[in-house]
Amino acid sequence: TRLTAAPERRLARRVCGVVLDHFDAQYSSELGDAWAAVRDILTSPCCWQYAVLLNRFNYPFNLEEALRLRGYRTVFQGSLPHCPKSMKCYLSTTAGRMPSERHQVGNLKKYYLLNAASLLPVLALELRDGEKVLDLCAAPGGKSIALLQCADPAHFGLDQPRSSSQPSVANRYGIGQCYLHCNEYDHLRLKWLMQTLESFIPQPLVNGIKVSQSDGRDVGDAQPETFDKVLVDAPCSNDRSWLFSPDAQKAACRISQRRSLPLLQRGLLRSAIKALRPGGLLVYSTCTLSRAENQDVINDVLNTHSNVIPVDITEMARTCSQDFSFAPTGQECGLLVIPDKGRAWGPMYVAKLKKSW
Ligand code: SAM
Repeated sequence: TRLTAAPERRLARRVCGVVLDHFDAQYSSELGDAWAAVRDILTSPCCWQYAVLLNRFNYPFNLEEALRLRGYRTVFQGSLPHCPKSMKCYLSTTAGRMPSERHQVGNLKKYYLLNAASLLPVLALELRDGEKVLDLCAAPGGKSIALLQCADPAHFGLDQPRSSSQPSVANRYGIGQCYLHCNEYDHLRLKWLMQTLESFIPQPLVNGIKVSQSDGRDVGDAQPETFDKVLVDAPCSNDRSWLFSPDAQKAACRISQRRSLPLLQRGLLRSAIKALRPGGLLVYSTCTLSRAENQDVINDVLNTHSNVIPVDITEMARTCSQDFSFAPTGQECGLLVIPDKGRAWGPMYVAKLKKSW
């Protein structure tokens, strides 16, 4: 496997002054002294790091060895009790990234490049064999792929009648009973999601994953009390990409649109709570530092839903503190991963809720 670092195209990108001014005003007040270091990382793409999530369905044994020789090391394995052995992610402590693999019909990709903090919401779900899971805002599919690395998914109605000598689809992949429903509202992004699934997941399993194009706010009414676990990786300001908007006018326009995001996020959470079975777990995540889209949304949902309670995930932060930096928390129930030197992961906000019986 070639391990040449990909040329860092982002180097040529320019920080958008309007957005940076906006961030300076908001985040210096919300993060205090921590903002200066976060700002340095966010505005310097040459410092950005990429993690390598290996695909259990086309396991790259040679690549694993090559990564180790280059100083990459696994993350979560051994530190997080709910990180299953089947999910392997390698971190480099230096900037740069592996080349992305091209999509080729019929060829499963061997690895997925991602911001390592994206795995925290997935691991916080503690997905177990046999559970029904909903990924409410799924495109482009990074977290769906990660979920499928963790759980042992099988699909209801997928296995055709077969002779006793033929293993079932489930058994062939050593998997139990599980069900994944990926939903995405945007038509083009839905296509991207389907391509991601096809690139990483064997066809028989892809056929068994339910993919829908609904407004996530309607899914709870359509499928009440259906899922054991729900992931709401909500549409958000996406600080990293917004900061590099090529069009200053459009970027400025997004500042006003940004104010409507918490309403959408609350609507998605309300729907997710309905879709969750009593006793089920929900994880809410965003890739923005904005308190209005993170803790305020969760507080509002907790204040208006007597049937959900926050789940403490500070232990998760403690066990990951070697690899991730977290914003200091007060009474908040969520975690906020903030980019830091040598640990440039995040921004990623994660909160976990449980629906009462
Ligand atoms: N979970 C994805 C991943 O890990 O690759 C990233 C999700 S992205 C942060 C949020 C997604 O929500 C976007 O693809 C966006 O198109 C979608 N979205 C926006 N509004 C939505 C809605 N009302 N219902 C469902 N999805 C929506």
